[in-house]
Amino acid sequence: MANILLHPSIDAGIKPGSGTFAGGTLVCHCTDKPVKVAIASDVLHNHACGCTKCWKPDGATFSVVAVVPRDTVSVRENGDKLAIVDDGATIQRHACTACGVHLYGRIEKDHAFKGLDFIHAELFEEAGSAAPVFAAFVSSAIEGGVDPAEMDGIRARLKDVGLEPYDCLSPPLMDALATYAAKQAA
Ligand SMILES: [Zn+2]
Ligand SMILES: [Zn+2]
Repeated sequence: MANILLHPSIDAGIKPGSGTFAGGTLVCHCTDKPVKVAIASDVLHNHACGCTKCWKPDGATFSVVAVVPRDTVSVRENGDKLAIVDDGATIQRHACTACGVHLYGRIEKDHAFKGLDFIHAELFEEAGSAAPVFAAFVSSAIEGGVDPAEMDGIRARLKDVGLEPYDCLSPPLMDALATYAAKQAA
């Protein structure tokens, strides 16, 4: 099997979080006037994601994405460079129009995850945020261009680094979605 790059923060082994991370500053990839977004929280539910919508660095097969309470997110510098990638999507991903990095994704419509913003911990200037704990939407990597024949190897590598591969979200998050749906239907 070809040597597939999962993600730079995963390929060489996952660094555990400090357990005491209280937030930091996300910075886009621009060298000139980077967008800076302050986060006053550690990340929750950090995971690798194989979907085609999350931002990922060049060459990566997976993004690494987590959530934080939206009231802990504040744009600090060069927010005029941000624009929503697709305002029809459930998650409105606010990206830097110069470098393409997604700074935060926000849900405005009624949804189980409304109130949580999606962020990429690799953009923190500071080390120590909580590490990824599972892999979501793994089969969707095929939609991103991965040869289906490589999926067994990809799932094996994810397990090797300690990320259980799921083809949707993790069981606790699927339960949260179903609980919300059940309440809506009641
Ligand atoms: Zn940028
Ligand atoms: Zn995704």
